[in-house]
Amino acid sequence: MSFARLGLIEPLLAALAALEYKTPTPVQAQAIPAVLAGRDLMAAAQTGTGKTAGFALPLLQLLAAETAPVASNSVRALVLVPTRELAEQVNESIRAYGRNLPLRTCAVYGGVSINPQMMKLRKGMDIVVATPGRLLDLYRQNAIKFGQLRTLVLDEADRMLDLGFSRELDAVFAALPKRRQTLLFSATFSDAIRSMAGHLLNDPLAIETSPRNTAAKTVKQTAIPVDKKRKPELFCHLLKRRRWGQVLVFVKTRKGVEQLVATLQAKGVSADSIHGDKPQPARLRALERFKANEVQILVATDVAARGLDIDDLPLVVNFDLPIVAEDYIHRIGRTGRAGATGEAVSLVCADEVTQLAAIETLIRQTLNRFEEGGFEPEHRVPLTNTAGQILKKPKKPKKPKIAAPSPAARQPAKKAGIAPAKPRSAPGGRSGGRAGGRPAAAGKPSRRSS
Ligand code: AMP
Repeated sequence: MSFARLGLIEPLLAALAALEYKTPTPVQAQAIPAVLAGRDLMAAAQTGTGKTAGFALPLLQLLAAETAPVASNSVRALVLVPTRELAEQVNESIRAYGRNLPLRTCAVYGGVSINPQMMKLRKGMDIVVATPGRLLDLYRQNAIKFGQLRTLVLDEADRMLDLGFSRELDAVFAALPKRRQTLLFSATFSDAIRSMAGHLLNDPLAIETSPRNTAAKTVKQTAIPVDKKRKPELFCHLLKRRRWGQVLVFVKTRKGVEQLVATLQAKGVSADSIHGDKPQPARLRALERFKANEVQILVATDVAARGLDIDDLPLVVNFDLPIVAEDYIHRIGRTGRAGATGEAVSLVCADEVTQLAAIETLIRQTLNRFEEGGFEPEHRVPLTNTAGQILKKPKKPKKPKIAAPSPAARQPAKKAGIAPAKPRSAPGGRSGGRAGGRPAAAGKPSRRSS
């Protein structure tokens, strides 16, 4: 199968040849002819499947065939995305695919001044890639008009809902012409997404390129049980011992991101961060430095990492498990892209067992666990199954009899299990007889630091 056989025009084929795209990915093979034929789409496509070209190529072709000029402040096609990074990313891809066509595109998103965006829109745009909040601001200030709009694309629709854009989306939908083509892409299909699709789409073609809610098959996924407080130490140990190259690391909180970056930098490892407290130019700079291999480790929160497209990223590390299970799929989708193989390593502490079980239910597989010598956790991570059940606490490894060096040897006597244990009953905890009297974390929702 070639792109030419999908009915794409020469200027697009030339751009694809320059990008060295030889064969359409499965989502492209299905989406391109359908969009060219004017169909609505409902596509279950994870990031990394080539979905951007799947909608951008036929969209560019349809727009190139338009003869009427686009009016001032008007837009012919709107691509809604959840984050600023994804807006930049998608806009860049569209520009690359459309480089031989005389079409105008731009990205608009919050966190930066609105005025330059208003100036750009004055000329009229063929394609606008936007985050929902900023788009509404622009619309309410009459900087963008939808009278000429013919296509709406919802990219990563599940993520837009996760991020709480539901109201903004409804306001945007209400402002758009009813007669239009609508393409909806989502990595996961919750009831909320299905209901949104039911309202927005007209006889859509359903595309499912990989089994629903399964993680990219090309990614080798493992979990390393570890005590929460030893995660930074374990990460630094693995970095050295496994000779990791560039790594994208996900951390739950912004504070946690900065702490890890500081730890790494103190050890002389080049690291930078991407999180919501950073201004947009600083985030983009961090990403560019990482892409250019000027920093080895990029540490990010989920929101900020959405839409990062980094070629040949071999490894993603979940320093913390995500709070929303679907984010696990998005995170590991950063590696193993476009058919390449990748690895995702999750550092899991006992507090995170509920999140682990939710992830394993979603991906329908249990993660292989490997304990790292010297980092066996004091607080064991209970076993789980794909039905989301937390089974039982695995047995603690036997302690060496006398004076052999062990991780416990570094702990104070009480923690190393020498102090008499005081049985204690705590809700959800089966701590009877545990050294140190701390309740086990089995089944407890994790406590978050911020
Ligand atoms: P996406 O899922 O749209 O974010 O794309 C993932 C990555 O795959 C991007 O780096 C694209 O440049 C790349 N890509 C998309 N389609 C193809 C293709 N047909 N051949 C090779 N690479 C592709």
